[in-house]
This record gives sequence, C-alpha cells and structure tokens, in this order.
Amino acid sequence: SKAAATVLIPGWMHEHARRMLTTHFNLVETPDYDIHTHLSQEVRASIRGVACRARIDRQFIDALPNLEIIASYGVGYDSVDAAYARSKNIVVTNTPDVLNEEVADLTLGLLISVVREIPKAEAFVREGRWKSSDYPLSHLTLRNRRVGIYGMGRIGRCIARRIEAFGLPIAYHSRRPADGIAYDYFPSLLELASAVDTLISIVPGGPSTANSVNAGVLSALGPEGVFINVGRGTVVDEEALISALRTGTIAAAGLDVLADEPNVSDELLALDNLTILPHIGSASVSTRTAMADLVAQNVIAWFHGGAALTPVP
Ligand code: NDP
Repeated sequence: SKAAATVLIPGWMHEHARRMLTTHFNLVETPDYDIHTHLSQEVRASIRGVACRARIDRQFIDALPNLEIIASYGVGYDSVDAAYARSKNIVVTNTPDVLNEEVADLTLGLLISVVREIPKAEAFVREGRWKSSDYPLSHLTLRNRRVGIYGMGRIGRCIARRIEAFGLPIAYHSRRPADGIAYDYFPSLLELASAVDTLISIVPGGPSTANSVNAGVLSALGPEGVFINVGRGTVVDEEALISALRTGTIAAAGLDVLADEPNVSDELLALDNLTILPHIGSASVSTRTAMADLVAQNVIAWFHGGAALTPVP
C-alpha cells in the first residue's frame, strides 16, 4: 500500500523531517550518497521516495528504478538533476516561501555589515582598541545608494520591500519582467549594473546564471560599488571579484555563498573589503524546522494524497 512506501534518506537530514518520515514510512538511511555501496539491488528497488539535501545526479536516480519523488531540503535545487528526474517521471520538490523573510533579513544584515563595517567595528572593540581611539569613519554609506536586485523572485521581492523601507531606489534584472512589480526593469545584468552602485544577487545557481556576475558587470558597478551575493556562489566569477576588490574596481562585497563552499580560498580571506558568511541565509532554528516540515509534508502528500505540495517547475 502507499502508506507502507519505503523512503531513503541518504546522508544528513534535519531531525524534524526524519521524525515525521519515520512515523509514516519505512525509512532506509545511508551514511552518504554512495548508495550502490550501501544498499543491495533489492533494497534499492523498494525505494519510492528520497528526502535529501545534497547532490542527486543521474547515476543516483538510475540506481533507484522505482523512485517517484525526490524531496530536497532548501529552495535552491541546482544540486538535483531535475531535468533528468522529470524525464523519468520523478517529481522533485523544494522548500520555497517558508524561508523568504529569513533570507531577506540576512541579506540586509550583510549589506549593512559591509557598508558600515560592523564586523570590523566589533573586532575593534574586542581587541581593546576603543580606549586609544575612535573607530575610523566608514568610507561607504547606504545613504543615496541605488540598489539593483538580480533576481526578482520570492526572496528578491522580500529584499526589495526592505530596501524600500530604507528609502533607496530599486531596479532589477531577471529574464523577463516580474508580474506586479513596478521597479525599473533592465533586460540585461550589465545594463542594471551600469544604472546602480549596489548589486544584490538572489538568482538560482545552475548553468543559466554561472559566472554571470563577471568582470564587465563589476566594472559597470563602479568604484563606489557594493556587491552582495546571497543566491549561489556559482553565479559569480570569483577570480574577477577578487581582482575587482583588490584593485578598487568596486569598493566592497559581502558573500553568504561561495562557488566551492565550505572551502574558502586564501585570496578571499586576504581581502579587507570583503565580508564572508558561512551560508546562513535561512539558518535559524525556526526556519530550518519549517523547511524540514515542508520536506516531509511533500513526501506525505505524495504518497497519501497523490500530489506533492511544492514541486519545482
Ligand atoms: P525564485 O525562483 O522565486 O526567483 C528566482 C528569480 O531569479 C526570478 O526572478 C527569476 O526570474 C530569476 N532568474 C532565474 N534564472 C535567471 C537567469 N538565468 N537570469 C536572470 N534572472 C534569472 O527563487 P527564490 O527567490 O525562492 O530563491 C532564489 C535563490 O536564492 C535560490 O534558488 C537559492 O539558490 C538562493 N537561496 C540562498 C539562500 C541562502 O541561504 N543564502 C537561502 C535561500 C535561497 P526569471 O525566471 O524571469 O529570469
């Protein structure tokens, strides 16, 4: 029966999702994604659902001949080969919306940290330097900035609402104008970067955005330019960014995501005008629990109701 479906958790999964799935399904867990090593062909053939947070490639999908649903933890699903899954009639779900406001909050925090040097100013206090001098005035300010948002989707809109409250003008780029959005639209990222001095990237990863924030875009942003990335590290040409920050092509940057995270290169760490966060956009206890809940609810809805709650397009 559908209620007795077998669901695989390869590697890490949020405890809340694991608990929910255990009460509804026959759970199989493996220490990592090498399921050929861990599971017999018979067990693999019994698996109809997967709840996961990391890389699901063709080989993984081919190892599970009766798979119906892949429930991915997170809204970005660039690590899942969703096109291949679709070709096999497998539903892929993600966790949209429940993290929008949390990620937008972090984005504004990162922007202000970069512009007003909050992490450096705190370090100054902790190093006992306040007694001998005031902290130097920040060269940058949020005042009179023009903000460009690269990606006006669910999270982009939440970021824009916050920027509006800060009194700053907003423009954006996506492949087509966003429904019901009145901000200035630019059909190319380069044109957007030329029109603003602050660029916030909140587009998905994958081939269509890879290295799209390149040397030309950074140069168009200009010497007062601030670049903030909360989307995916792959969106940025990191060599070009490092060079732009070194030479003053732009003024400063803040990154919550890196191309090769959690590895951080010495070149990145050496930059004084760069703030790096360890991919914490959605990383509060409450929001991560809400994401885990949606992972499990998608699998439950699929096997008990016949339709997933949040399938990817
Ligand atoms: P949405 O799908 O709602 O929005 C994506 C936006 O990007 C849309 O405006 C879309 O418009 C635009 N876009 C997509 N592809 C391109 C492209 N090739 N060129 C230009 N614009 C493009 O996604 P969310 O807002 O929910 O999430 C966005 C991303 O943020 C996630 O995919 C994830 O990678 C990242 N993220 C990071 C987090 C963190 O912790 N740092 C947390 C959560 C999400 P159009 O299709 O018209 O081009």
